[in-house]
Amino acid sequence: MDIILFGPPGAGKGTQAKAICDKAGIPHISTGDIFRKNLKEGTALGKLAQSYMSKGELVPDEVVCDLVTDRLAQPDAAGGALLDGFPRTEVQAKLLRDWLREHGRDIDLVISLEVPDDVLVRRLSGRRTCLACGATYHVDYNPPAVEGVCDVCGGQVVQRDDDREETVRARLATYHRDTAAVLPWLSEHVRVVAVDGTRSIDEVRRAVLAALEPA
Ligand code: ADP
Ligand code: AMP
Repeated sequence: MDIILFGPPGAGKGTQAKAICDKAGIPHISTGDIFRKNLKEGTALGKLAQSYMSKGELVPDEVVCDLVTDRLAQPDAAGGALLDGFPRTEVQAKLLRDWLREHGRDIDLVISLEVPDDVLVRRLSGRRTCLACGATYHVDYNPPAVEGVCDVCGGQVVQRDDDREETVRARLATYHRDTAAVLPWLSEHVRVVAVDGTRSIDEVRRAVLAALEPA
């Protein structure tokens, strides 16, 4: 099953991804995580992506699309994948659908997490991320057991550079300008399940997992 987990930055996509992947038996493909891994490793892709990420802008479509199709072609994604943070433009959405169809697959489901901007700003500015494994926390809503230390791997938990307030505003503006319009396009072609993402993490998880049941 190929599933898109859609929503603005801070909607809770990364937080809910593991439960969906475990239930559907598919890998998690987060384009943001791939860029951050490349940045940590000092690759040319990481440096290129950083020049856009630091300003809250989108990495060019051709770069992201090549990356995603290469990843989707790997053996662990042969039975489908959960896409988080992709597609973010209509070009990316169409390319994804075409690539999947050429490979006997399709976008089977879109889960859309809906959260208003004022809540997103609070979530992103309070988000903390593990430098080692990428696990995410929130200073108020989901803190690690020991401040600054990852519950999962013991790594250092810090604020992402692009979660500082100025960049958060730019990312939300980018979302409304370039990404929000992808949802109506998807709705015309694919089953979209909208989930109220303002509820607690556990309530959102229950709603998201219910979306995996056949319609
Ligand atoms: P995304 O991957 O969509 O950008 P995240 O999953 O990283 O968003 O969530 C953004 C922040 O909001 C994180 O700090 C996370 O702990 C917190 N968060 C996620 N879901 C909820 C929720 N339902 N209620 C409160 N805080 C949440
Ligand atoms: P995320 O972790 O999903 O919030 O993504 C972090 C940043 O990576 C974004 O603000 C963009 O700069 C870049 N990025 C991630 N996914 C994409 C995408 N599908 N298209 C363009 N840029 C992306």
